Amino acid sequence: RAMSSVNIPPPECMLRPLEVPYRYLFGPGPSNVPPRILAAGARPIIGHLHTEMYEIMNDIKRGIQYAFQTNNHMTLAMSGSGHTAMECAVFNTVEPGESVLVSINGVWGERVAEIAERMGAKVHTMVKSPGGYFTTEEIEKALAKHKPVLFFLTHGESSAGLAHPVDNVGDLCTSVWVINAEHNCLFLVDSVASLGASPLLMDQQKIDILYTGSQKALNAPPGTAPISFNERACHKMFNRKIKPVSYLLDMTHLSNYWGNDSKSAREYHHTGPVSGFFALRESLAILAEKGLENSWRQHREVAEYLWKGIEDLGLKLFIKDKDLRLPSVTTIAIPDGYDWKELLAYMMKHHQVEMTGGLGPSIGMVIRVGLMGYNCSKFNADKALTALADALKHCPKRRG
Ligand code: PMP
Repeated sequence: RAMSSVNIPPPECMLRPLEVPYRYLFGPGPSNVPPRILAAGARPIIGHLHTEMYEIMNDIKRGIQYAFQTNNHMTLAMSGSGHTAMECAVFNTVEPGESVLVSINGVWGERVAEIAERMGAKVHTMVKSPGGYFTTEEIEKALAKHKPVLFFLTHGESSAGLAHPVDNVGDLCTSVWVINAEHNCLFLVDSVASLGASPLLMDQQKIDILYTGSQKALNAPPGTAPISFNERACHKMFNRKIKPVSYLLDMTHLSNYWGNDSKSAREYHHTGPVSGFFALRESLAILAEKGLENSWRQHREVAEYLWKGIEDLGLKLFIKDKDLRLPSVTTIAIPDGYDWKELLAYMMKHHQVEMTGGLGPSIGMVIRVGLMGYNCSKFNADKALTALADALKHCPKRRG
């Protein structure tokens, strides 16, 4: 018998056509992708090193600079989801043994602390329960105590539904402690769940490194993640003693791939997600056409409409202070007596509406409703409220 004979038959599932249901993605992401962005992603593939692709990547950079409100030259999109940007930021700016300070008030700080720990940083954490936030005084004290090279804060804490204040923190990071004459503590901010939905101004708010994801308010498919580094961050990451642990995420290579270094030619590093970049370009174009302020206003108005509707159903919002609520992801305290998993399953089964439970430390505390970008309308808020009301009516109430 020939060694080369095929003895594993083609799987039966592969002989059936792909089936994808239509879902109302009213959870914390991904959000529904509008036809224009889907169509951009369906354009013919070109090479990742073709001049036309460089043009598209240059457009993406300009689009990110607008969305982030930054003039940073070192602006690009990661080939990968939000976690890729988290790892890229930490791996490149921190060296093993250096001190990192991470604020944890939900799952994202936990993740960044683990990422920093894995690459050998000395990790210090400030911890609050989900929905808590840190005062300027608390941050200042912790910075002075731990003298970190990097401080991490989540702007849109999607596991808790909190929009963390960012003003003044950048000033603390630049002034509170000086490692040497050239750089001190870098301020790293996660805006995966908030970009385009809640006001954030990278340069004015003195954020040294900012990243987001493609699949939330930007409404592109999951799989690409905009990131930007200012000069302070570049100085730190391009003057390392040892190379970062990841070859794929090494910014010396990525900056060349994105035409951001001083070399005259871009060299092959990895094959970027060409279709994902087409779609990301289109999502950034839609944001540029609409205008950031309009997008922020739309998210706030629809969120307020949704919050009122939720309270009219007799439910309680998890974040009490309106000004601390994340407009893109609303958290509802789980109503007494209900099994949150049953409520979610009911809405999915009868309304094709996705909402989700908590994540990490907020599991069992909240139900999360996200109306982001294309999904952000009063029409969709009504759809979400109808599904919720129906679930409350039909799901068994056990106690309370
Ligand atoms: N940070 C925040 C605030 C998020 O909401 C998410 C996604 N839920 C991430 C990071 C991680 O992004 P991704 O799932 O694209 O890796």
